[in-house]
Order: sequence, then structure tokens, then C-alpha cells
Amino acid sequence: SPVPDYLADVLDAVRSIDDGAPADYIEVLAKADTSRLAVALATVDGEVYVAGDSDVAFSIQSISKPFAYAAAIEDVGLDAVLARIGVEPSGDAFNELSLDDGTHRPMNPMINAGALATHALVAGPDASGPQRVERLRALMSAMAGRELGYDEAVYEAELRDAHRNRGLAHMLRAGGIIHAEPETIVDGYVRQCAVSVTVRDLALMAATLANAGVQPLTGRQVISRTGVRQVLSVMTTCGMYDAAGDWVSNVGIPAKSGVAGGIIGALPGQLGLAVFSPKLDAHGNSARGVAVCERLSRDMGLHMMDVS
Ligand code: GLN
Repeated sequence: SPVPDYLADVLDAVRSIDDGAPADYIEVLAKADTSRLAVALATVDGEVYVAGDSDVAFSIQSISKPFAYAAAIEDVGLDAVLARIGVEPSGDAFNELSLDDGTHRPMNPMINAGALATHALVAGPDASGPQRVERLRALMSAMAGRELGYDEAVYEAELRDAHRNRGLAHMLRAGGIIHAEPETIVDGYVRQCAVSVTVRDLALMAATLANAGVQPLTGRQVISRTGVRQVLSVMTTCGMYDAAGDWVSNVGIPAKSGVAGGIIGALPGQLGLAVFSPKLDAHGNSARGVAVCERLSRDMGLHMMDVS
């Protein structure tokens, strides 16, 4: 079919980009095979197209943040979530120690401070650490349409060196944003980030968002429409960190990146897409991944502000 051929051509066109470097603060990611490159598209009708290293699994990392945000909204309600985590782009890097001066709320759920606070709300106020972790694994699995597991090596390496996230979690506890033990929240959040996925999984997860919360293959409503709208809004303004403005104008698709080199995009009513390539640009987004998305958006007319 012409779509996989087209996708393979797009990968070939960006293969020469050699900018950036894999994340170095997680030992296992620093040693990633930087030649890896993959892309997948999943339509809301359940057609899936892949090219490149589409069977290679990698850790989901920050791409889990929108799904955890969706879970928190389902589990405690949007108002309780907004009371603890804002929706303003921070303009800061993903791991910035940025909390609002007055309320101590993290600026948004896509930076680490907000993602840790979000994780603490998953499965409700009385949930245990393992219950939060399993709720998220199960939700992400329902969106991918298969049972997902963990990259244990990434989990262990990241937990060992999670000093910055520990610092953030203690700040959140000191500010009264979280009430659980900071160490339990960091452990659960690092597990959430270690869920192992392929671009096919991610494209289907993104397509579930694009399809108003209904998984295209199973037909299951896994997130409510209200939750999806909130998640896609925050992805649009904050999903690509301090590159969000460039991304919205150049690509124009609600998106989220992860430090292992994955990026998802979800275009409402149309499709989910996912790319993977480990070298990151200065904002912490996959350098080739951004280039692939720019091409797809331009070639296929995917910019959400374009009038068709
Ligand atoms: N687990 C990573 C961290 O907390 C996620 C960051 C990312 O993917 N940008 O540092």
C-alpha cells in the first residue's frame, strides 16, 4: 500500500539528521542505539501503518503524562485535579523546580512537578502505591489494545538516580499538594515512565485520544470525552515543553514527547501518530522525531488550524 512506502520515504529523508544526544541522566537511555528510527500512524477507523524499527520497544517516559492526567481526571474529577495542578505553559524545561508562588501548584501536568502531583491523584485519595501503578498500566494497555509491561532496566536505573524528582516530590509535599510519602510517589511515577511500548502501541494510544476516548480496535470507551478534551488541550499548550509554541505553529497537532525519544501526536477526529528516535534536541524532544512530524503535517495537511 502507498502509505507505508510514503512513511519509509519520510524516515529516509530525516535519517541524515544527526543533531542532539540521547538523554544522559538515565544510564540505560544514554546507551540507546541512536540509529533507531520508527514511525506509526493509526486512524480513528483502526487502520495502522508502520515503517522503520516499528517492533523496537522503548520506555514511554513523559508520554505517560497525558494518560496519567486522564486517569486522575476520571478518578478524582477535574475540579480536584485543577485545585492541585495548573494548565499554564511554564516556558521551562521539563524537570524545572517550578511551582506557583501563591498556591504551590505545579504550572501544568506535563512538566515533572505536575506529573508527580498528577500521579498522586490516580486511583483516588485512598489508593496504595501499587494500585496507582496498576491503574496506569491497565489504562495504557487498554489504549494500546494489548497488555503492556515494563522496561525493568530503565526503571531501576532511573530510580537509582531520581534525585531531582525526589526533590520535586518533597517540595510538593511541603506545599501540601501531595499527602502520600514522596518516595512512594517517585517510585510509582518512575514505574509509570518505564512502561515499554512500540510506535504501534503509541499510535493506537494517540488514536484513542483522537477518537474521543474510544479505542479504535476494541471499541472500548477508555477515557471520557471531557477527560480527552482536557488532555488534548494541555498537550497543545504544554506537551512539547519550552518548544510548544514552535511545535504548534510548525506541526499544529496536540502532542507529547518522552525522554527515550518517542513523540505522539493526536489529531482529533482523524488519527494518532507516533515516532521514535533516541537523540534529543535542546528542549528534550526527539530531533528526528520533530522533523518527521513536521513533514507528515505538511505533506498530509494535518495542521489543526488549516481549513480544509
Ligand atoms: N522519567 C523522566 C523524568 O522524570 C521523564 C522525563 C521525560 O520523558 N521528559 O525525568
